[in-house]
Amino acid sequence: MLRDEGPLVPMAGCTDLYVGFHFGTVPQKRFLDLSALRTLRGIRLRGDTLVIGALATYTDLIRSPLVKRRLPILAEAARWVGNPQIQNRGTIGGNVANASPAGDTLPVLAVAEAEVVLRGADGERRVDFNGFYTGYRQTVMRPDELIVAIEVPRVVGRQWFRKVGTRAAQAISKVVMAAVRAPHPRIALGSVAPTVVRVPRTEAVLAAGGTLADAQAVLMEEIQPIDDLRSTAAYRRRVSANLLAQFWNDTGRRDKRPSAGREAP
Ligand SMILES: Cc1cc2nc3c(=O)[nH]c(=O)nc-3n(C[C@H](O)[C@H](O)[C@H](O)COP(=O)(O)OP(=O)(O)OC[C@H]3O[C@@H](n4cnc5c(N)ncnc54)[C@H](O)[C@@H]3O)c2cc1C
Repeated sequence: MLRDEGPLVPMAGCTDLYVGFHFGTVPQKRFLDLSALRTLRGIRLRGDTLVIGALATYTDLIRSPLVKRRLPILAEAARWVGNPQIQNRGTIGGNVANASPAGDTLPVLAVAEAEVVLRGADGERRVDFNGFYTGYRQTVMRPDELIVAIEVPRVVGRQWFRKVGTRAAQAISKVVMAAVRAPHPRIALGSVAPTVVRVPRTEAVLAAGGTLADAQAVLMEEIQPIDDLRSTAAYRRRVSANLLAQFWNDTGRRDKRPSAGREAP
């Protein structure tokens, strides 16, 4: 249908689309309701790969024993999305396809080095999550393709996540960070650049045994935050550096839980 009857806008939980209708930013008038595609909702293991159907909701992610075991920071990110109503409707596929730099699952998928599984009438392809976004709200997905799943390889190292917003619920991130403490640490941030970003220069400083202060200085240069209605570039830079320190201190201690909450730092 996407190929032969398009252009059609896929609809999943509609939590982003409805906002777009309200503000008049969804110009198309024809839609494809995905909700009948129940096979796209499951969460399972294929070999050592965690396969998350695109229609899995945040509530599905929070409740999944597999996600809890393999990628607890994804369940953590899901818990901080919107509110229970949004968590019951909003999907991971919608979060990824919507391509907002503030999407809360995106830094998690970036540090997990996930793959996006795209399917169209002509077949299926896998795209490295870290190559999925090409610019502000731009992706490599074609109009005749759907995201059918997100695939996550085994993540080795302590996982860490924190969202900083105005409130503890119903808040879009001012800064959101996910990280993995491995010999070569992986760090990704949202709301600090036109797309979710990994910060390879900062990762390299830490991997080489550089000081936290050096890594913080590099991070503040590596990100490109802007002033907007939710925050300022200066605040985002400072908070990003603080989150880096919190990640490094939390995961350096033996007794610390793998991920933190999101009260204002
Ligand atoms: C009150 C409120 C609070 C929110 N809070 C948060 C928050 O805290 N953190 C956060 O990250 N987001 C938040 N959101 C945004 C939203 O809930 C999420 O981005 C959600 O994951 C979108 O999923 P959906 O299924 O509702 O997508 P939809 O609204 O159905 O679709 C979003 C976009 O993705 C496309 N799409 C959907 N599924 C697919 C697919 N399988 N393949 C291809 N394209 C697809 C649609 O065509 C559309 O362009 C909030 C939204 C609201 C209204």
